[in-house]
This record gives sequence, C-alpha cells and structure tokens, in this order.
Amino acid sequence: MAWKKSSAGLLLAASLCAAPLERFEAVEPHMGTLVRITLFAPDSDTARKGFAAAFERIRRLDETLSDYNPSSELMRLRSGPPAPVSEDLFRVLGAAQALARETRGAFDVTLGAAIRLWREARRNHRLPSEEERRIALQQCGYRFLKLDSRRRTVQILRPGLQLDLGGIAKGFAAGEALSVLRALGLPRALVAVSGDLVIGDPPPDKSGWSVQVDRPLVLHNRAVSTSGDTEQYVEIGGVRYSHIIDPNTGLGLTSRTGVTVLARDGTTADSLATALSVLTPSEGRRIALRHHARVWYTPPQ
Ligand code: ADP
Ligand code: MG
Repeated sequence: MAWKKSSAGLLLAASLCAAPLERFEAVEPHMGTLVRITLFAPDSDTARKGFAAAFERIRRLDETLSDYNPSSELMRLRSGPPAPVSEDLFRVLGAAQALARETRGAFDVTLGAAIRLWREARRNHRLPSEEERRIALQQCGYRFLKLDSRRRTVQILRPGLQLDLGGIAKGFAAGEALSVLRALGLPRALVAVSGDLVIGDPPPDKSGWSVQVDRPLVLHNRAVSTSGDTEQYVEIGGVRYSHIIDPNTGLGLTSRTGVTVLARDGTTADSLATALSVLTPSEGRRIALRHHARVWYTPPQ
C-alpha cells in the first residue's frame, strides 16, 4: 500500500515535470532603454501574465527611482529633517551607500549635480569650466546623505544635493522583475535592462542560459553587468569621455576601459560595474572579491 502511494506520487511528479515549457520573449521600453524578458512557460497565457507583472514592477520602480522624472520619489527628496521613504528607495540607497563607503566615493549616488553638469557638457560638446565643476562638486558627497534603517528615513544634509541612481537602478529593477516572475512560478527567466542582466533558473534541459557578454558564458542564478564607453560617450577636443564621471574632477572618464561584472544579484553587478570603471583594476579586483564577484576588463588589464 505504502509503495503504491509513493509510486502514484512519483508518477504525478513525473507528469508535472514533463509538461513541456515553451520559450517566450517580450521587449518594452522602460527606464530610458529597452527591457527584454525571456522566459519559459507552459503556455502563452501564463507567459503573458508573467510579462505584464514583471514589466509593471519595472514601470513602478522607474516612477520611484528615476532622476529624469521630476515627480519621482527620488527627485522629491530635499535637504532638511529625515524623511520616510518607500522600501524600494531605501533598499537601493542602502546598497549605494555601502558601496560608496567601500570605494571611498568612487561610486557615489549623490553626484547628481556633477552628473547633470556633465550631461549638459555632452549635449553641448563643451567641457564645463573648472569653476562650474567646483561648484557642482560642492553639492555632492555621500557623507551628506544619512540613512536610518530602523525608521527607514533618509536625510539630505547639504542643500542642493541631488541623487542619481543611473549606475545602480537598472540592475536593481532587473532583479526585482525576476523576483516577480519567480513568485508567479516562472523562475526559468532572464531579464535584461539594457546591459544589466539578471538570470534565473536554467532553461529546461540546459545547464544555464548562454549569454554573450565580454565572452560567451553559460549562467544561472547570477547577474551580469557591463559598463564602459562603448555606447554612451562624447568626444570633445579629440578626447573621448565616458558618461561615468570621476568624482574627483567632475569630468567623464577617459580611460576607455570596459568592465564586465558577474555577481550574485543585479544591484551588485550594476553598481560594481560602474564603480570598477572608476577604480584601478587592482582596487577593483579586491572589491569584487569581497562581493564574491568576478570581473573582466576590456581590453584586459
Ligand atoms: P549604463 O547606464 O550605461 O548601464 P552605468 O551602469 O555604468 O551605465 O551607469 C552610468 C550612470 O551612472 C551615469 O549615466 C550616471 O547617471 C551615473 N554615474 C556616473 N558616474 C557615477 C559615479 N562615479 N558613481 C555613481 N554613479 C555614477
Ligand atoms: Mg552600473
């Protein structure tokens, strides 16, 4: 009797596992870029529901974290007393501040004023003057942003300080979209927010997802991000500048090094790829190691 029961259980399990999964893919514009989701689902209806929920999560996150939308929760923060914020915003800022401390400000989400000035420079093909950069940098500094995790509040201590999550929000959003899919029973998925990839369980009968980043990799339950000057750069006076800025000068990086980071989660991969673009390869490798992440430089360093 006992044997019969367990064999029936096994049969049921086998037939459930055998339910063929099909591959589905959808692309939508979010966060100023394209988001591509690939997933395996038993049918198109289930896939559609998964896509809708995952894209909706990203859309809501963009409403919270965007520095382009003046009414986002991020942009409404002002200097003054501690202000309560949403859990999403607090989590991103918490991760950002930890990395800022670790990199002594090479990665810094309070660089908003300097990043805005640099964006203007990229638009006008004109370098900001030293004076303009000095003034902008005076409004920056991660030490002027205080988080209180018990109260979940954020305090901006310097008037004019502006936050910019461009180096971390996409990886965070990709990870959250994958969590939504997992919760819906669709863990075999890959979410790519531009160059920030978060990879779930492997496709059926595969050991992982084949991704071509700096090199071909087969991955599951990992995140990969690439930063560098391959796409977003500006050339002024014969010099090529990146959209990642050096917090010491307020100018875009000129090193032309591409950085690919393989990490456990999207937030880590995205923010580390930006941070390691600023740091020297030896500093970068040391920090990557602390996060159990791997890093590749292009060209190899
Ligand atoms: P991409 O947006 O192309 O994926 P990154 O993840 O490297 O590239 O993010 C670059 C963005 O990060 C910039 O556009 C800017 O918003 C922001 N940023 C620039 N320099 C820094 C820095 N030193 N620390 C933190 N964020 C930065
Ligand atoms: Mg990044």
